[in-house]
Amino acid sequence: MTYPDTALFIDGAWRPAIDGARQDVVNPVHGGVIGQLALAGRADLDLALAAAARAFPAWRDLGPMARSDLMRRAAGLLRDRAEQVAATMTAEQGKPLAEARAEILAAAGTIEWFAEEGRRAYGRIVPGRDPRVMQQVIKTPVGPVAAFTPWNFPINQATRKIAAALAAGCTMIVKGPEEAPASCAALVAALADAGLPAGVLNLVYGVPSEISAYLIPHPTIRKISFTGSTDVGKQLASLAGLHMKRVTMELGGHAPAIVMDDADIEQAATVLAAAKFRNAGQVCIAPTRLLLHESIYDRFRDSFLERAQRIVVGDGAEPGTTMGPLANARRVEHMEALVADAVDRGARLTLGGHRIGNAGNFFAPTVLEDIPHDALVMTTEPFGPMALLAPFSRYEDAVAEANRLPYGLAAYAFATRQSTIGALSRDIEAGMLSINHQGLGSPELPFGGIKDSGYGSEGGSEALEAYLDTRLVTVA
Ligand code: NAD
Repeated sequence: MTYPDTALFIDGAWRPAIDGARQDVVNPVHGGVIGQLALAGRADLDLALAAAARAFPAWRDLGPMARSDLMRRAAGLLRDRAEQVAATMTAEQGKPLAEARAEILAAAGTIEWFAEEGRRAYGRIVPGRDPRVMQQVIKTPVGPVAAFTPWNFPINQATRKIAAALAAGCTMIVKGPEEAPASCAALVAALADAGLPAGVLNLVYGVPSEISAYLIPHPTIRKISFTGSTDVGKQLASLAGLHMKRVTMELGGHAPAIVMDDADIEQAATVLAAAKFRNAGQVCIAPTRLLLHESIYDRFRDSFLERAQRIVVGDGAEPGTTMGPLANARRVEHMEALVADAVDRGARLTLGGHRIGNAGNFFAPTVLEDIPHDALVMTTEPFGPMALLAPFSRYEDAVAEANRLPYGLAAYAFATRQSTIGALSRDIEAGMLSINHQGLGSPELPFGGIKDSGYGSEGGSEALEAYLDTRLVTVA
């Protein structure tokens, strides 16, 4: 497989940075350089801003049907190219080929869903108090968007923003993930090859803080969408607030998973192990604190450990690998620091807790028990293959622990009593609660957090709404 270099995509053309700036892309399996990407400077961003502003009126006025047709063609192209793009994604990000393939096919489905939903950006007529007055509520695209997408799902995170914005009639500048740039570029290429007019979608890479500091305040940009850590999200939301820009923030999580005494334990262990170790745990909705009723603690732990031990860690491009390396060296250092701190404070390391081999970013599936509350990992998102097991005796204690952190993204629960299921639905402070299965992430469902996990949604009709202004016109 030949790994492609990544250029900037500005005003309908793939091109290098004006000042020629470039950066290496490395494969997390061995740390070797596999390609390069262009890094945008201000002059490149100015071109992208001008292109997005110029293209906006025609894209807005093209209408939902034509936009929908084009997006469907792009989804088809992405599907046709799935094998090749999956190999690219695995080379730069590390996830197993099967996961990369699934991500690409899911992205095609997401584009199709928003292509349809964009046809339904209905306004409404509100009856007038005076029958001679016509009151219209109309929905119009907000205008050019600046979107910042991360490296953990290089295609899917970008797709959620791009598909909703394009369907709504917005133009965009996307800052893609520098650590996994080529697969995100392949997504943009599918849209470009499907006939997207020049300037509607511009893709840049660069120094993230410099790009956001320039784009967010810029008068051309009307809306900001960011996926990443809570710390960075708060900085960007502050800047956006200062300039009165609309914002969608998909931030970090530390998902609790409550397993009640009446749960199907085998099923809970299967679902939670799969959700925990997918993409080596680098998933904002991955379950992290597994809160287990004391009566089923041992049974669940044994079952979960058995599944974790079955994971085959290796090069995602090799058949049989079920968990690849972490995406970058920072994550391995973060895992090591969290384990060392927890063990120092008295936690029990039941499984893993160490890097694997001397090359690349491999880290073993890790399980910790008896973790004191002051351990860093009890408040910091691991964003890696690490599960924390803790027993509880009373429902109220499990709920208090689930809600203890400022995060409120995903949560999971396993129970069969209807009364418990009803209580959990009300009591758990999370943007997304999945009970008795892993039921999050389809494009037709809202996707987003509450509390420090952000605001706004990247799924469902809410996601389209995020790119639309509501305007009122009354006519006498
Ligand atoms: P990080 O905070 O440095 O970066 C996270 C993302 O934000 C990256 O995509 C990065 O390019 C971008 N970013 C950083 N500073 C920025 C700025 N000033 N302006 C614009 N974009 C900026 O952390 P990291 O080491 O890359 O990732 C680890 C942490 O990030 C995790 O703990 C996790 O919380 C978070 N993260 C979350 C998601 C998610 O899906 N919600 C995805 C990736 C990373």
